Amino acid sequence: MICANKECVREKEFSPKTHNQKYCSDECCRIATNKKIMEKYYEKKAIRSGQKRHCKKCNSSLSRYNTSSICAKCEKNNSSSDRDKIIGMINDAC
Ligand SMILES: [Zn+2]
Ligand SMILES: [Zn+2]
Repeated sequence: MICANKECVREKEFSPKTHNQKYCSDECCRIATNKKIMEKYYEKKAIRSGQKRHCKKCNSSLSRYNTSSICAKCEKNNSSSDRDKIIGMINDAC
């Protein structure tokens, strides 16, 4: 396994203790989690300031009231998204 933290200074492979371990250390997990929180923060800030955003899937412009990164149409088509989200959350657990 290679640490999922791109800024990891170790740059070495590690043997995960659990099958879903993505980071070589608690420190890396913390850094990566903080980064995700910051990304979400800036995304929310962009939404609030009325910045133009586009659907990640079909590139149509998003309403500023849509806090998702994809449009309602794509959200509907994306029926497996809830399941993927849950799996993603489990995988993100440190
Ligand atoms: Zn690391
Ligand atoms: Zn779309």
